[in-house]
Amino acid sequence: MKKTVSFSKKASNIFFHILTDCNLKCAHCYINKKEHGQGKLPVETIKLWLSVFAKRNPKKKNLIFLGGEPTLHPDLSEAVKEAKRLNYESITVDTNGYLFFDILSKVTPEQVDYFSFSIDGSNTKLNDKIRGKGSYEKVIEGIKKAKAKGFKTSMIYTVSSYNIEDIKNMPDILKDIMPDKFFIQIIGIRGKPAASANNFQVNNSQWFCAIPNTAKKIAELGISVIYPKVYLKKEEPFECAGLLADNYFIFPNGRVYKCPLCEDFAINGLYFNKNNKLVKNGKINEDDLFNLSIPEGCVINKIVQSDNIEYNKDGKPLYKIACCMLKEEIS
Ligand code: SF4
Ligand code: SF4
Repeated sequence: MKKTVSFSKKASNIFFHILTDCNLKCAHCYINKKEHGQGKLPVETIKLWLSVFAKRNPKKKNLIFLGGEPTLHPDLSEAVKEAKRLNYESITVDTNGYLFFDILSKVTPEQVDYFSFSIDGSNTKLNDKIRGKGSYEKVIEGIKKAKAKGFKTSMIYTVSSYNIEDIKNMPDILKDIMPDKFFIQIIGIRGKPAASANNFQVNNSQWFCAIPNTAKKIAELGISVIYPKVYLKKEEPFECAGLLADNYFIFPNGRVYKCPLCEDFAINGLYFNKNNKLVKNGKINEDDLFNLSIPEGCVINKIVQSDNIEYNKDGKPLYKIACCMLKEEIS
């Protein structure tokens, strides 16, 4: 069954980058230490910030631990247990597969709902070209270990001009691995891609030639597939998650964004101050941009990564770009 998953108004999603350190140097890494902070957040600070979001509103809260590589944080297991104690509804750990500090032995499937593994190619050659030597072997080994320990798993494949053709090979690979979920993401032009002269973006026809059919094939294996909508059809309404949903992207320097496309700039709507209080940022910030209405759809997309928009000869956009948080799900 295929459906568009509109933004949940009943749940908050907390994307918590607990450090920016990483053992890999992926070509498309969105981490920008200048804008996101250096190193690891002390576990006491992680706990305080978790408690702020736990109390902030009564909605169900989903928590995703990210980095850098979150398993490089020696206190990740303690942070997971604290989140559980604070009644976060679901807890996910995103990982590149290296699973440092023996994390699978320090938490249980009752505490971590999903370990989510990043893979960006169906084979060693392509994946390792993007993510670094040895990373393909490690991610496959990591997901097998997590499954053997009884954890639910997902995989994340970030599509760019480097690998859009290759994703068609993923159904064959996934037959053997069988994660519970498969997430397809599209490259965001922030962090390294924003600083690079290479064009990482994929266009409308590349996207539609590769993604919906591949997603369908993967779903036929019995794996839930979630992928971004990206391009809206004429009859589909444009909506901005910054206005309608409760998503928070937290970084070690205290910045808290509602829109991930803004993360290269100091226009975060909220931040943790020196007393660990969550406060509003001064103007102009991302909140001031969410209400702007333009024919191209997402206003931040137009500012930071407009190469994915095509225009007719009269200068009108051929389609609107959807909010990056709007997803299709096939189960
Ligand atoms: S594993 Fe993640 S954080 Fe590390 S370099 Fe790759 S994309 Fe960046
Ligand atoms: S991606 Fe665009 S539409 Fe979505 S929250 Fe950000 S500004 Fe709003």
